[in-house]
Amino acid sequence: MPDPEANISYLRTRIPGSVKLIAVSKTKRADEIIRVYNCGQRLFGENRVQELLEKKALLPEDIEWHLIGHLQTNKVKYVVPFIGMIESVDTYKLLSTINSESRKINRITDCLLQIHIAEEETKYGFSIKELTEIGDSGAFKDLKNLRICGVMGMATFTDDADQVRKEFSFLRECRNRIKTNFFASEDYFREISMGMSGDYEIAIEEGSTMLRIGSLLFGERIKK
Ligand SMILES: *Cc1c(COP(=O)(O)O)cnc(C)c1O
Repeated sequence: MPDPEANISYLRTRIPGSVKLIAVSKTKRADEIIRVYNCGQRLFGENRVQELLEKKALLPEDIEWHLIGHLQTNKVKYVVPFIGMIESVDTYKLLSTINSESRKINRITDCLLQIHIAEEETKYGFSIKELTEIGDSGAFKDLKNLRICGVMGMATFTDDADQVRKEFSFLRECRNRIKTNFFASEDYFREISMGMSGDYEIAIEEGSTMLRIGSLLFGERIKK
């Protein structure tokens, strides 16, 4: 039997107070999510817009939702009115669309730059080269309705802890480099969202500021 209450108590003993925990609730029902909410958790992450909108309607208003999955530009307008943070921004076109949709409703939207750090071809994300080019062109400065708060990445799905550590360490270097070059005076540019159920301890050691944890909290997801 899944025991989210015990899981969250355990996780809280393992996670330093300075590191935020995003409870990844994708595929989980509202009644499962509310159990974790009742333990005091307020940050939740979903990876699909449709599923997020359906669950949001059933759950308490004071949940802060993070979008952690690939976002299509035509769906941006549905999330911008309420989203706490879009962690998975992976193209300049998407940054620009989130900016313009936010401007329309007079909001500032918090985002992270997703960086491709894994070996797998399939994972989304910017390369550090692309981000450097965008930064050098001055284009980050045009995004007045965004607060770019840092970076996000997913390590390769592997048992090789050294490789995962190297990828997380690289993501931290990317954060530092982009910060120094383009966001030196923006205090809010500081986050590194990295670490999932299988690799969160390495992520903490490598300087994660936000963990995204699903199965370790809610139990294994049924494969769809
Ligand atoms: C599903 C997912 C997670 C959580 O994965 P677990 O291994 O269940 O902890 C974290 N980040 C992203 C982007 C995800 O899609």
